[in-house]
Amino acid sequence: MSPLRQIILNSQNKHSFSGNHPWILANSIIEPASTPRVGEQVDLVNYENKWIGRGLYNPNSRIRLRLYTWDATEFITNELIAKRIDRAVQLRARMGNGSLQQSLRVVFSEADQLSGLVVDKYAEHLVIQLTAAALYPFLDTIVDRLFHHYRPLTISLQVDERTAKSEGIPQEQRFLTGAAPEDSVLIVENDLKWSVDLVGGQKTGYYLDQRENRLAAARWTQPNARVLDICCYVGGFALTIAKHCTTSEIIAVDSSEKALLAAKHHATLNNLENRITWEQADFFEALSSRLDSKEKFDTIVLDPPRLASSRDHIQRALSAYHRLNYLAVRMLNPGGTLVTCSCSGRVSRSDFRDMLRGVGSRAHREIQVLEERGAAPDHPSCMSCPETDYLKCVVARVL
Ligand code: SAH
Repeated sequence: MSPLRQIILNSQNKHSFSGNHPWILANSIIEPASTPRVGEQVDLVNYENKWIGRGLYNPNSRIRLRLYTWDATEFITNELIAKRIDRAVQLRARMGNGSLQQSLRVVFSEADQLSGLVVDKYAEHLVIQLTAAALYPFLDTIVDRLFHHYRPLTISLQVDERTAKSEGIPQEQRFLTGAAPEDSVLIVENDLKWSVDLVGGQKTGYYLDQRENRLAAARWTQPNARVLDICCYVGGFALTIAKHCTTSEIIAVDSSEKALLAAKHHATLNNLENRITWEQADFFEALSSRLDSKEKFDTIVLDPPRLASSRDHIQRALSAYHRLNYLAVRMLNPGGTLVTCSCSGRVSRSDFRDMLRGVGSRAHREIQVLEERGAAPDHPSCMSCPETDYLKCVVARVL
């Protein structure tokens, strides 16, 4: 018999709970008579008292319980967390050598059965992003294990604003080992140099998940193309296309001044400063003003921020994706390349495809799909948690 307190799924979940999804939401359980404390280890049982899994409770979060094991003989201990980190590291070690090993996602939360823990490696520096308050007590183990594998110069911790709100913990950014580097950190990706700001960037500093998609965009860009990169952040797609293709012009747009400053720095760092025009603008404005003035492009990249943060926002997000793609498709020359992304985990691949079908039919343009891509393989997805398959990247020729 397990000594742990039991949390009971409510009757609506009697039959419907299936798979090993690690999130148990507040509205799926019977509220316990006395509330477990943050991080308390509990057993999850269904309405008929059948054991389902073991997790860590957070009374302050809509995700009341995160499950870490579905084996009744296994408890959530430092050893288990260490074992999961080892397994995550082993996967990344299989991914070949070269620049990929230098900078990659080492741990990807639910996809590595470590819900709430993300670890990115930028050269000699590791960044831990916690999205679960319940993992705080395991932080020393996490740091020890990461140090054991990589011997990095620094390991820093980040809790972003969104997590702080949803998990009821303070937002923070601090170095757990080593001193904060004075400068940003230099990494290499797709034969380009990038400087990553460990402290003030978006996400953990850079979007590693689009690594291979940037190359795919370059691969499908025709010689001498006119290119538009919408939501370019620090220049990911624009610079990769500039480096690997001949182009007549590249225009890259983002609303963030800070991101564009970094993008310009990256252009200089890679001797590509004369190839790209950077523009600070809203994506809808940048597209519609160009459509009004009848501009045409041969490649358009759309990589907007997450437009659906919860299930309630899916329809709204899909209409925003529709508007965005509809504008872009009409600006593409016949045979032009569309690289269109969605990083909203709530928007499924089939929803995204349906959205594109609607765009093609409304614009009277055939969208010929060349590649349906996802995040880079250091961001695997797990069948039990469809949200881990969050990044969609469709590469298409628009006839
Ligand atoms: N393409 C990038 C990642 C894009 S992340 C890469 O390859 O790394 C999404 C970007 O959208 C962020 O840089 C953010 O600043 C920008 N963004 C958010 N809202 C925007 C808006 N309304 N108009 C233009 N850019 C926006």
